[in-house]
This record gives sequence, structure tokens and C-alpha cells, in this order.
Amino acid sequence: MRIVLLGAPGSGKGTQAHRLAERSGIPQISTGDLLRAAVARGTALGLEAKAAMESGRLVDDALVLGMIRERLAEPDARAGYILDGFPRNLVQAAALDGLLAELGQPLDAVVQFEVASEELVRRISGRRSCADCGRVFNVLTAPPGGAAAVCPKTGAPHRLVQRADDNEATVAERLRVYAEKTRPLIDFYRMRGILRVIDAQGEVDAVTERLARSLADVPPPGAAAGKPRAKRAARAKSARRTAAVRARPARGASRRAKSARKKTRARATPRAVRRASAPKRRGPPRAARRRTRRGRR
Ligand code: AMP
Repeated sequence: MRIVLLGAPGSGKGTQAHRLAERSGIPQISTGDLLRAAVARGTALGLEAKAAMESGRLVDDALVLGMIRERLAEPDARAGYILDGFPRNLVQAAALDGLLAELGQPLDAVVQFEVASEELVRRISGRRSCADCGRVFNVLTAPPGGAAAVCPKTGAPHRLVQRADDNEATVAERLRVYAEKTRPLIDFYRMRGILRVIDAQGEVDAVTERLARSLADVPPPGAAAGKPRAKRAARAKSARRTAAVRARPARGASRRAKSARKKTRARATPRAVRRASAPKRRGPPRAARRRTRRGRR
């Protein structure tokens, strides 16, 4: 199960990717989260990415591609993954295509999250995440409460913080970058026949439901190459039949092949060995037969 969630900042990809990952047991791979972790750790990658992220621009393709290649090679990604925030432009989409073709693991589906622009701005301005467990809330529409009121890491109430790039100026730039660089991916994947579009507005649970419905035909993690059992068996049978037909010699070829094999064997085997292993002839030996023939003449 290899899926890409596409959508503008604030469209809810992260929230839904998290839920889908929990349900399906395959990892959510968010390039935004990976980059934020690199910035927080102060790695070389983080230092290079920081300025672009703070201004709402895209991080350099080579950096992101190197990071995603490493992440997809980790053992937990073997059964599949949910890509969230990647690819973000056509260069990244083409690179992902190439990488997955090399691995013989094409994408199963790409889901586009449709949300009106005013709603995106409202969601982003209310977005907060827990500084300890990373869980995302919205203080306007989905504040922490009930079972989710306590942080599973600290056992205390969540410490809510706002992302550095969720401020008004950066959000405007991120939405502009999305329209210019990421929206063209909708047609890119539509042309490949793997695009699904869902209405990502309304209640979070309702969107989860729509996402699940849009993926109903995608084989679950671990299912081989996405083919139901009966279909796989039929394909194997037909492949065996084709192989048998190919292996069968053409008419007349069998006799020719037999005589060619005999000649080759004869060339490769010393005469004494040939004689010793030749089947015993019935009747008189060869010299006696010759004498008899001469006598007849
Ligand atoms: P996100 O958490 O997906 O909204 O990403 C936050 C920021 O990280 C973006 O505004 C970009 O600066 C950077 N970023 C995340 N994913 C990518 C990507 N695939 N390519 C380039 N930059 C990215």
C-alpha cells in the first residue's frame, strides 16, 4: 500500500495520514516533519532547510530527495507508506516515479484533498501541536479534550505550540507556492490514472470516512502486488502454459534437433567410449555382415 496524500497546507493531510497510518500499520512519512526534526536537531540538512522553511518556500529538491530515498529504504516502509507533503513539485514527482520503478513498487493511489482557501487560512491559524508528543490540534475547531486531553508522553495536559511557519505572511507564501508548484501534480497523477479527489471539508471523522472509501480498492499492506488470489492463480497458470508452448519445438525441428544432438555427442565422445556405450546390435558383428554382403555380390 503506497499512497500519496496531496493537498494545500492546512487541508488536513497530516491529520488523516496519521489516522490512516494507525489503522493500516504502515508509516506516515511527512517531509515537513522530517525537515522540522532536522532543524530541531541542528543537523547540516536542518541548517540548509531552515531559511526556506521559515519563509514558506520549498526546500531544495536534492536535499528532500536524498532524505526521502533514505527514509523509504528503512525496514518499516517495506510493506508500504503514506507520503504526506511529498512530492511537492514535478521534479520530485518524476524522481519518485523513477525511484519506485527501480524498486518495482509503483504507487497505488494519490488522493487530492480539496478545501476552499478561506477554510485553509482558518485551519492554519488555529493549528497547534503538542511540544512533547507532536499531536496536532485546532484551538478553533478541534481543541484537546476527552481522552485526548492528556499527553501520552508526559501524562500531563498537552503543551500546545504554534508552528513557526503558521504565521500570516508565511502562510500566504506557502499557499502561493502550493498553487504554482504543487497543484500541477493533480494533472500529473490524473494522467497516470491513479488520482482520487475527496472533499476534505467538514468533520475530521467524515473526511476519514471519505478517504477510506476513496481507497477501498487499494490492496491492504502486505497483499502481493495488489492481485486477488484467484486472479494471481489464473495468471500463474497462463504463464506456465505460455512457457510450455515456448519450450515445445516447432514441427520437424524435433527430428533435426535429435540428429544435431547426436552429432555433437559423437564429436565430443572418443570412439572407444562410443563403442563401449553403444547399444548391442542384434545379429552378426559388422565385419561378418560386410563379408556376407561381398559374398552376395
Ligand atoms: P509541511 O509540514 O508539509 O507544511 O512543510 C513545511 C515546510 O517544509 C514547507 O513549507 C517547505 O518549506 C518544507 N517542505 C516540506 N516538504 C517539502 C518537500 N517535499 N519539498 C520541499 N520542501 C518541503
